Amino acid sequence: MKKIRPKACLLCQSNDDLVQGHVMPSFVVDYIKETSVTGVFRFGGNPNLTRQDYFKAYMFCKRCENIMSIEENYFKKNIYYPAAKNNRREFHYNHQLSRFCMIQSFRVLVFFDLAYNELAKLKPSHHKTALKAIEEFRELIFKGYKNKSEYSNHIFFFDLADPYRSDIQELPKRVNHYFLRALDMGIVRGTNQMYVYSKMGFIALFTLLVPRMHRGMIGTRIYANNGKLKTPQQIRFPRLGQFLMSRAGIGDDIDELMSDRQMAKMEERFRKNIDKMADSETARAVFADYNIADIKKSLRE
Ligand SMILES: [Zn+2]
Repeated sequence: MKKIRPKACLLCQSNDDLVQGHVMPSFVVDYIKETSVTGVFRFGGNPNLTRQDYFKAYMFCKRCENIMSIEENYFKKNIYYPAAKNNRREFHYNHQLSRFCMIQSFRVLVFFDLAYNELAKLKPSHHKTALKAIEEFRELIFKGYKNKSEYSNHIFFFDLADPYRSDIQELPKRVNHYFLRALDMGIVRGTNQMYVYSKMGFIALFTLLVPRMHRGMIGTRIYANNGKLKTPQQIRFPRLGQFLMSRAGIGDDIDELMSDRQMAKMEERFRKNIDKMADSETARAVFADYNIADIKKSLRE
């Protein structure tokens, strides 16, 4: 990662002192840590991202961080915590939710550009779109409290993978762990698509840049003003499904790659925390992954 600071705040473009802010909302990182057995994170597969990147980067001035924290708090109190702690899956929301989506995707876009020069790697048409989106989000975050973005935002609640799905043999070994627990983010692109992805444990945010809407995203859309978000939801967007599975599969070879010493350390951590295991969210994901492994095995026999 390039350890550079931008010359000016990436939101207001003033030369005020920049403060360290987060790319992934800090309450998400805290929540995943609190509910894990060992306090050890599972990150998504982007090899460029270090743990530090999820926490802190110099991108914005204090004033802009404060502006953006209003909607982050809204999301935390009204969606994330009730969903995490009370398992709620039905929400009435106001314009602050689409603002949160814009703010989060804006953070990801500017962070990946700053840290990894990602925009320069996009093909020309995607590059143009990404710049346009950044400009639009910047304007809207500042001024248009209730204005509509032309890009659609989607929030998806992950659940355990269905162990009876027909493609079970192709499921990654740690699919449930990825679905429920992983932090991941990036600018995801294919030939004719590009979207901004923030996976915050069991909730993912997708901001579609190309195409700006997709009919295969069912029950996930966050409208500009008031709306209702509830499950069941569906992603009938094959490329996106493939993308999620490929991210989930990235750790699959980790057992083979880990040294004996690392393995021993990991086992030690689990052993010490066995009493915490019973009611942890990690346990739910881990046991579901074991279950899938058993079903796969029995189907092969
Ligand atoms: Zn600023």
